[in-house]
Amino acid sequence: NVSRPRPSGAGADELFGGLLAPGYDRRACRSRYESPRYYKHSPFAASPHLLQKLRDYEARHKKCGPGTPQYAKSVDNLRSGSSNTEAAECRYLVWLPYNGLGNRMLSLLSTFLYALLTDRVLLVRNTDDFTDLFCEPFPDTTWSLPPDFPVANMSQLGVQSDDSYGNLLRHGRISNHLDRAASQPVPPYVYAHLAHGLRVTDQLFYCNDDQIVLAKVTWLLLQNDLYFVPLLYGIAEFEDELRRMFPAKESVSHFLARYLFHPSNSVWGMVTRYHRSYLAHAEEMIGVQVRMFPFATIPADDMYMQILACSRQEGILPEIDDEHEPEPGNTTSAVDSEGAASSNKAILVVSLHADYYERIRWTYYKHGAKGGGGVGVFQPSHEERQERAQRSHNQKALAEIYLLSFSGVLLTTGMSTFGYMSSSLAGLRSTMLMVANNQTVPETPCVRAVSMEPCSHLMNFKVKCKGKTVDKEELARHIKVCEDLPRGIKLV
Ligand code: GDP
Repeated sequence: NVSRPRPSGAGADELFGGLLAPGYDRRACRSRYESPRYYKHSPFAASPHLLQKLRDYEARHKKCGPGTPQYAKSVDNLRSGSSNTEAAECRYLVWLPYNGLGNRMLSLLSTFLYALLTDRVLLVRNTDDFTDLFCEPFPDTTWSLPPDFPVANMSQLGVQSDDSYGNLLRHGRISNHLDRAASQPVPPYVYAHLAHGLRVTDQLFYCNDDQIVLAKVTWLLLQNDLYFVPLLYGIAEFEDELRRMFPAKESVSHFLARYLFHPSNSVWGMVTRYHRSYLAHAEEMIGVQVRMFPFATIPADDMYMQILACSRQEGILPEIDDEHEPEPGNTTSAVDSEGAASSNKAILVVSLHADYYERIRWTYYKHGAKGGGGVGVFQPSHEERQERAQRSHNQKALAEIYLLSFSGVLLTTGMSTFGYMSSSLAGLRSTMLMVANNQTVPETPCVRAVSMEPCSHLMNFKVKCKGKTVDKEELARHIKVCEDLPRGIKLV
């Protein structure tokens, strides 16, 4: 008799209160229907406006997506270089993957919101390391960019590309002066370089009048690696829609992550097998993510002390009791009908390194927890270093982001997009370990996030935008400096 997973949220609404559309083939994407049962928190209800936007989006993607006459026509126009000044029936947004998995997910999620706001169809360039990670999110269609897409050398696109928005502006091939732009044809496609090394002209993408101009372009290619939702809140064109879609600002990444990302069956198999074997029997699961950035390494002893200091400060890990060893039969640990003791608490450690797991495990092996409950400590993998362009490595990372997101309590590492993704999915304000900038142990070990929204790491944002502006007071109420990165901004 195989032990069944015992997700604590069993009976949970499997479509997340209408966020997900019904009618998918369950076997093609098991996580889509099963994941709601694993989450411990679902703190918000989606607004009717968001639900309507998602259903409209799905209809648009089905009408304009790959394999449709509209798609074929739009690709023909692109191939022939025709610049369409008429409003095209279908307009597209091609997302190009860049950087680590957490960065990619946050960037893709932001790009999807941008597609919702601009009535575009989101297509994903699936590089080999980005396949078999996620299910198709939209019904009866695909978000994969077909391989015969006519823009050559997409992997070479960068800040120097002639077709980047910044360079098109610099060379007068497009204008963000609305009176001039009205009579100027737009190119068949524009590449928005929003990734590493972007210049001030590239940053104009985040301005109101530039968005009015870009709305005329049928094909927009976009590359970045960051969470840019807070920047969309600064664009007057989107102000009203954003307010209606997300009455709670803190819910943006939470809803969009749960809507868009569904691990493929291969990844979901890893997640559920691990959960069933090690985590399902715990009454409480504590997720601990320890990320050591190359620019902020400190000795493992110091890092471990920081984790313990943080845990004491915020009451995260079970307190140990080194004075009283529990008498047999005088413990509160659960014993099931077959007589096997099960843990009361599971600590899931997620890290590239085994060190912190070993130390935490040893602590609860050597000492009992106060109150006598059992504590199990688990780590699914320790890859030792970040690999680039490797699918199986990304699959493990994704499985661990999901396992973390099933925690009741989360301790993550500040500035880590991997950690941000798990808190957004979890619907939790995590406690974040402060990062050891300049290799110095931080004085404050950790901070409790004021919102579950990820921090937007765009630094040196210094563009002067043209056009209508948003309500600055309202914006200041909802955009704050990040707890873990004073030069970053986040929604609260
Ligand atoms: P960030 O660098 O922490 O912001 O997160 P990213 O996900 O963008 O990049 C880090 C990459 O390193 C991940 O995508 C993984 O490939 C790898 N990585 C980092 N931490 C872990 C971990 O705890 N587990 C696994 N499996 N991979 C990790």
